[in-house]
Amino acid sequence: MKIIMLGAPGAGKGTQAKKIAAKYGIPHISTGDIFRANLKQGTELGKKAKVYMDQGLLVPDELTCDLVVDRISQPDAVNGYVLDGFPRTIPQAECLTNALKERNESMDIAIDVTVPDENIINRMSGRRACLGCGATYHIEFNPTKTEGVCDACGGELVLRDDDKPETVKKRLDVYHAQTQPLIDYYTKAGILYSVDGTQDIDKVFEDITKKLG
Ligand code: ADP
Ligand code: AMP
Repeated sequence: MKIIMLGAPGAGKGTQAKKIAAKYGIPHISTGDIFRANLKQGTELGKKAKVYMDQGLLVPDELTCDLVVDRISQPDAVNGYVLDGFPRTIPQAECLTNALKERNESMDIAIDVTVPDENIINRMSGRRACLGCGATYHIEFNPTKTEGVCDACGGELVLRDDDKPETVKKRLDVYHAQTQPLIDYYTKAGILYSVDGTQDIDKVFEDITKKLG
């Protein structure tokens, strides 16, 4: 199963993508996580990406597309994958469609997790990310057992720099201008499924799994 997660920053794409990946035994591929891992390791890609991420802007398509095409060609992706945070622009979507076409493949479903802008700022300011394994929590909606400590690996939890309200506002503007057109793109492709992302985490997942079967 080849799945795309669409939605505003903070809509819950990553939260649901991880649950889908675990249930269906497919890799969760998050471009944001890949950039953050590169940043941590101090690679050239990480250094380049940081300049854009810190401003709430998108990393240029040419740095993003090859990365994903290479990742979905790895052996663990033969039975499918869930893409989280990619594509985020029409050129990225076209790059993905073309790369798959070359292999006689296509995406199965694009899941749009819908959450109004007014809920997003609140979600993002409460999001906490693990410095160790990248797991995400929410101080109110998905808390850890011990405050500030990752349930999965015991790592330290932080507020991401780009989750501060000023940057979140910019990221929302970028989302509406550059990413929202993908809803039309995947509607026309006949694979769009919208889910109400304002419901609690388990209910959103229940709706998604009903659709995926
Ligand atoms: P995205 O990957 O779309 O940026 P996340 O999955 O990281 O978003 O979710 C953003 C924040 O909102 C996280 O702190 C997460 O725990 C929380 N969250 C995710 N889904 C829900 C939900 N359905 N209700 C309330 N909070 C949620
Ligand atoms: P995310 O973790 O998905 O919220 O992504 C964090 C940041 O990484 C974004 O605000 C962008 O700067 C960058 N990023 C992640 N995925 C992409 C993408 N597909 N295209 C461009 N930039 C991206």
